[in-house]
This record gives sequence, structure tokens and C-alpha cells, in this order.
Amino acid sequence: MDGKRCAWIRNRGLIRAMSPPRLLACHECDLLQRETLLPIGGTARCRRCGGFLYRNAPGAFDRALVYALAAAVVFVIANAFPVVGLDAQGNRTSTTLFGTVRVLHDQGMTSVAALVFVTTILMPALEIVALLYMLLPLKLGRVPRTLPAMFRIVQTAHTWGMVEVFMLGTLVSVAKLGHIAHVDPGISLWAFAALMVLLAATAAAFDPHELWRRVEALQ
Ligand SMILES: [Zn+2]
Repeated sequence: MDGKRCAWIRNRGLIRAMSPPRLLACHECDLLQRETLLPIGGTARCRRCGGFLYRNAPGAFDRALVYALAAAVVFVIANAFPVVGLDAQGNRTSTTLFGTVRVLHDQGMTSVAALVFVTTILMPALEIVALLYMLLPLKLGRVPRTLPAMFRIVQTAHTWGMVEVFMLGTLVSVAKLGHIAHVDPGISLWAFAALMVLLAATAAAFDPHELWRRVEALQ
């Protein structure tokens, strides 16, 4: 970002600081409250229900962006390599997560295949893409088009993404299959474990209040 742009954003911040405080609605009970300046690390909560409103966490925006970028890389690795390899009586078999979805579909379990595809591939992919679509341009000083739609996609995809459930199910299966076959955890399984942690870290660092504050400063 050039110096002129930085000065413009600083001036916008000064104008905002001099203007009357904004009103915020609590997401839990809809109570309207005035926004106040918080100390570093401070959290604002609703006066009526105690629900979370916003926080002052310096660097949270950059952390969310870094975690989302790392999640994108790990997501590609997780889907490009086999999840586990099975070795039973000399027969070795291994497949990727998408291969598992295809096998489930071929065996007539289309609804299960659709559920696995949506919750472990489609929704995490949508969440990562929408996050990067919002955060990367804002970091570079531009407001992306269709930002509100992307914001809603992130919220929905985070609710329906269930990588942790998939991990739990896979670990139980690996433990049970260990009695009848030799099981080799694939690189994809470790990548899914990392993806689970990175998505949780991104969600923890992602601050919608900070996001909209940046958008206001750039407009
Ligand atoms: Zn409230």
C-alpha cells in the first residue's frame, strides 16, 4: 500500500474517531448498544445477555489470513493422497477421500456418499475459498465484490463442514480394522488432522467486526 493510501485510511480513522460512536446489535438478543474503544486484548459483551459483541485483538486479521492460506495448501494435500492403506492377506488397497465417495456411490449408498462429499470436501473448500476471497483483497487494500455473499458462505460452510467428525470416524475405523488387516495411515490422514486444527484456528482468529471496520476504512 502506498503512503498516500495509508494517510487516507488514517484520516478516515480520525474522522470515524471524531464521529458519534456506532450502534451495534447483539447477535443473541438484538439489544442495540454503542461501540466503545477497547483496551488491547479486551472483549465487549452484551449488557443484557452477556453475548460476545467484538474484541480488540491486534494481528487477528493477519493470523486469520495466514491460517486460511495454510488450510488451502493442506486441503489440496489431504485430497490428493490416499487417506489410509489396507494390507490384508497380500491384497493392498488405498484410496483418496474422493475415491471413497465414488465407491460409496457405486455400491448404492448415494446418500452417504453425498453426505461425506458435502461435509468433508465441498463445505471446507467453500469456507477456505470464501475466506481467501474476502481476506486477501482487503489485505491488499481493495474491497472485494460480493463481499456480503462471501461472508454468508463462510458462516454457512463453517456450520456444515465436519472434518473433525470425519477424523474421529476414520480413527475409530483404523483402530477396528487393525485387528484384521495391516493399516497404514496415509499422508492425507495427517493433512486432514492439520486441516482440522487450521480451520478451528482460522475461525478463532477471524473477527467479523475487524473485517467490516477495514471495509469502512477503505470505502
Ligand atoms: Zn444480548
